[in-house]
Amino acid sequence: NERHARQTGENDVHVSFEFFPPKSEKMEESLWQSITKLAPIAPLFVSVTYGAGGSTRERTHNTVARILKETGLKPAAHLTCVDATRDEVDEVIRSYWELGVRNIVALRGDPAAGIGTAYQPHPDGYVNAADLVAGIRRIADFDVSVSAYPERHPESADWGVELDNLKRKVDAGAARAITQFFFDNDMFESYLERVRAAGIDIPIIPGIVPIHSFKQVASFSAKTGTSVPDWLAHRFEGLDEDPETRKLVAATVAAEQVMDLVDRGVTDFHFYTMNKADLVFAICHLLGLRPKTPEQEAA
Ligand code: FAD
Repeated sequence: NERHARQTGENDVHVSFEFFPPKSEKMEESLWQSITKLAPIAPLFVSVTYGAGGSTRERTHNTVARILKETGLKPAAHLTCVDATRDEVDEVIRSYWELGVRNIVALRGDPAAGIGTAYQPHPDGYVNAADLVAGIRRIADFDVSVSAYPERHPESADWGVELDNLKRKVDAGAARAITQFFFDNDMFESYLERVRAAGIDIPIIPGIVPIHSFKQVASFSAKTGTSVPDWLAHRFEGLDEDPETRKLVAATVAAEQVMDLVDRGVTDFHFYTMNKADLVFAICHLLGLRPKTPEQEAA
């Protein structure tokens, strides 16, 4: 019955959605179709990523500005420290505040030479995410989210380093952490236990990636140190040329993961949408979330 209650949305489930800034008019159109489909679910916020090395500075800003102007959604702008001076980053932060943006996802970012190469902070820049969080909070009263890594960040030698780093981000003023995607809920649960045992009490929101392309997810996982369980690979085996079945399997896999997390007491989820609405909309429906009318949204 508890399971039934959780799965019929009788408890409070909250979601947020992540998008990336579009590179072309066509991509912009499909992003906006997705935003239009997902907006009535009334997410807590929608975040817009910042391309490697700040390569999407303008596009991230424009997407955030359009969300603010054309929807009732709360946009959260991702921001990194890569290859930028403090002054440059501070200017971006101030321009967001002036625009009316109140949420930032603060990240260090990856080296311009690619994930796996050694990170070198800009000599006049913020050195890491904790330093950036402090900088943002000095400028204005932003709501700041940071990253968290249930399987450890590849550069963290051990759990002590990993959790100290998260703690520094919290001490600098982070309100919540969003995790790197993962597929093993047991591992996420033991991570949460470690975080709480370290005295970190901010919400840790699981980042969920619906698998539109298993190949893509597997290759990204390898780069970011996310493990892909054999059972998951097995589920997508032989489906490379069968997009219809692949989509049904992807929806099932993500729904199973999310429902199991609900059964473990998780109430908030962050979805890596890849700018596509269909799988995320279906999972939110299963979570008991229903589109709100514009009147309900305004209330
Ligand atoms: P940090 O929290 O600063 O930590 C990075 C590593 O450095 C950790 O291993 C930490 O332990 C170590 N470290 C930090 N400070 C110290 C210190 N003083 N001494 C010793 N070790 C230290 N990337 C983008 O480019 N754009 C995005 O929009 C983006 N969005 C993301 C959203 C989420 C939810 C997540 C989980 C990641 C995102 N990333 C994004 C990827 C992120 O930039 C990379 O994972 C990057 O390698 C680390 O960034 P961070 O903010 O986690 O770094």
